[in-house]
Amino acid sequence: MNTKDYIQREEKFGAHNYHPLPVVLDRGEGVYVWDVEGKRYYDFLSAYSAVNQGHCHPKIVDAMVDQAKKLTLTSRAFYSSPLGEFEEYVTRFFGYDKVLPMNSGAEGDETAIKLCRKWGYEKKGIPENEAKIIVCEGNFHGRTITIISMSTDPDSYKGFGPYTPGFVTIPYNDTDALAKALEDPNVAGFLVEPIQGEAGVYVPDDGFLSKAFDLCKEKNVLFIADEVQTGLARTGKMLACDHEGVRPDILILGKALSGGVYPVSVVLADDDIMLCIKPGEHGSTYGGNPIASKVVIAALEVLKEENLADRAEELGEVFRSALKKIDSPMIELVRGKGLLNAIVIKPTHGKTAWDVCVALKENGMLAKPTHEHIIRFAPPLVITEEQLIECAAIVEKTLQSFQ
Ligand code: PLP
Repeated sequence: MNTKDYIQREEKFGAHNYHPLPVVLDRGEGVYVWDVEGKRYYDFLSAYSAVNQGHCHPKIVDAMVDQAKKLTLTSRAFYSSPLGEFEEYVTRFFGYDKVLPMNSGAEGDETAIKLCRKWGYEKKGIPENEAKIIVCEGNFHGRTITIISMSTDPDSYKGFGPYTPGFVTIPYNDTDALAKALEDPNVAGFLVEPIQGEAGVYVPDDGFLSKAFDLCKEKNVLFIADEVQTGLARTGKMLACDHEGVRPDILILGKALSGGVYPVSVVLADDDIMLCIKPGEHGSTYGGNPIASKVVIAALEVLKEENLADRAEELGEVFRSALKKIDSPMIELVRGKGLLNAIVIKPTHGKTAWDVCVALKENGMLAKPTHEHIIRFAPPLVITEEQLIECAAIVEKTLQSFQ
C-alpha cells in the first residue's frame, strides 16, 4: 500500500471529522516522524503539544511496557499499587493537595467545571443551579457538548445545540471586562487558557494572568487554568502561569502529561475545593489506571531531567528571531512564547496557510494551519538549536518558492 491507498481507506471507513494533511505517518523518534514511503519529516505539531518529550521517548515507553506486562486496569472499584505513587508524585510536583485523574483534555475541563460548580454551591453559597463560569472569546477546551457550549467558534458549536447554560463570555486579555463580569455574585469560576493555542497562539499582555487572578480573589471566584496545551515546559516554564507567578485554584493538564504515549489528563486543586466531590459523583473507568500512573511519572521525570522548560525558553527566542528575519510578504506576524509559536499568513498569489503547510511537508517539515491563516509551530522540546535553524530555513525557502 502507498500513501494514496492509506488515505483512501481512512476516507472510506473513518468519519470525516478531521481534515489531515496528505501524509501517512508510520514511525516516530525524537523530533522526527517517517511516512509509509520512508520519507523523514520534522514534526512541528507534536500532536498539538502532546509529544513535548519527543516521539517514543524510551524512558516513557519502557514505563508503559513494563506496567502493561504487570497490571493494566483495575477500575477505581479497588485500590491499585501504582495509583497512590502517581498521586503523591503529581501533587508534590505541582504543589497541590489532591489530584483527580481522567483521560482526555476535554474530560479534564469537564471535571474542573463540575468541581467549580460544586464548590460554588457548597462553599461560596451560590443558589442551586445558578452558578456561572466566565470564559473567554476564542477559547478552545475540547469537544464535548458542555465545552462547545462555551465556544465562540461556529465550527465547534453550530448544529450541536441545545447548549449547556451557565457560561458568561468576555473578550480574551481584557481585565476590565473580567472585573465587570465578576460583579455577578453567582460567578463561581474564571476558566482561561494562559495562551490561546487553538485560537492561533494568542499571547495575552504581560500582567493579564496575575491581574485576572487578583480580580478573582477579590470576589472569591476560582481561577481555573486550562494548561492542557500550554503546560509542561512548552512555553518555557513548567506551566505558562509560572511566567506570572500565578498558582491557579484549579489546574487542568493533559497531552504532554504522558509524552504522547497514553491519554491522561488531571485536575489539581487543594482539599477545600477537591473534597467537594464525593464518592460516586465523578470518575472514569480508565482514569488513574496503572499504565497511566506509571507513564505520567516517567513523562514528568523526563521534563525535569532533560531540562525541557529552559530549553523551550532559550530555543523559542532563537526560533522567533530566525522567523522574524525571513523576507516574505506572506508573513504578517510572528508570535509565541517558548516553543509554542505561530506565523500569521497573508494570502499572496492565491496561496493560503494550507498551501504553505502542504509545501512545507514536501520540504520535510510538518505543521498544520489553525483558523485558515495561522500556522502553529510547536516542535518536540528535545529539538536542537541546529535543527531549529534548519527548520527556519525550510520555512524561508518554502515561502520564497511562492514568489
Ligand atoms: N484544552 C486545551 C487548551 C486544548 O488545546 C485542548 C486540545 O487541543 C483540549 C483542552 C482538549 O484536549 P483533548 O483533545 O485531549 O480532549
